[in-house]
Amino acid sequence: MKRRDFLGASASVGLGLASVAAMKTSMIAAQTTEEMDKRAEAKLRISSQLGPAPGDSDEDKLANIKKYGCEAVEYHGNCVGKGKEFKKKANDFGLEVSCICWGSHGGDFSSEDKDKRQKCLDDLKKALETAGEMEASGVIFVPAFKHETELTNQRIRELLLEELPPVAEFAKQCNTSIIFEPLCRMEAFFLRQVADGASIARDILRKAGIDSGIGVMGDFYHMDTEETSQMGAFISAGSLLKHVHLAGGVENPRRTYPGENSMTFVDGFRGLKYIGYTRFCSFECGCAGEDKEKAFEASIKFLREQWEQA
Ligand code: MG
Repeated sequence: MKRRDFLGASASVGLGLASVAAMKTSMIAAQTTEEMDKRAEAKLRISSQLGPAPGDSDEDKLANIKKYGCEAVEYHGNCVGKGKEFKKKANDFGLEVSCICWGSHGGDFSSEDKDKRQKCLDDLKKALETAGEMEASGVIFVPAFKHETELTNQRIRELLLEELPPVAEFAKQCNTSIIFEPLCRMEAFFLRQVADGASIARDILRKAGIDSGIGVMGDFYHMDTEETSQMGAFISAGSLLKHVHLAGGVENPRRTYPGENSMTFVDGFRGLKYIGYTRFCSFECGCAGEDKEKAFEASIKFLREQWEQA
């Protein structure tokens, strides 16, 4: 059949498909630009990991996170299995828990060894249970740092699509999410852009037939290398964006408190505003200032000014 004949045939017998397509088109068309613009709903809600926060003990750090206007703390994997205890620790200082920064499990997922992958997924489920218990947005997962895998990009993506749908379903049951973290090329070759992580998450959701349980995050430090537009990157993730890491970019002083180098956050914050982002933006960076407490306070002030400008 020639292409023209085929098109003619599909026009007459393919009414079912055509009407579904028309319905989709009209649904998209029904949403006006004004309705898609969610700036009025967006909020800058700041969180911090314990490492970047000023203070000598966890208690000092939690007190300072609260004192300078943050709303949440981001824990590392040492909280897994101790959700109630770690949630109480945050709540005692008037803070929520934003996320668990869990990492790559040594790259075990990105391997042809089924047992290694299974061990990674079993432990990921334990972390998801804890995140649910702490009412956190999710568990940050890096499929592989660059020295941790021999597999190609294509193969890792295939494995994620094979293995993660039931784990995303489990995350949804726990009322939390698996959150892919794209990294810059100095740290990873697989998964470097926010839109890439979002498309993998979307495909996993489609395969699982669910609407939540997996998403992506953006880290301003990594995005400074990999994204041509921070605004565009966040908009491309849309509702799949579950978390953000705050850090200055690659220029010296590299990856320190926002405001300590020349990188601006206005473009990225415009993207967050446009998608109506209300989840957390969390400090994950060093500090160049000598007085860490003063530098933390100044950085938060800087971020709020950038948000206003966005
Ligand atoms: Mg990060």
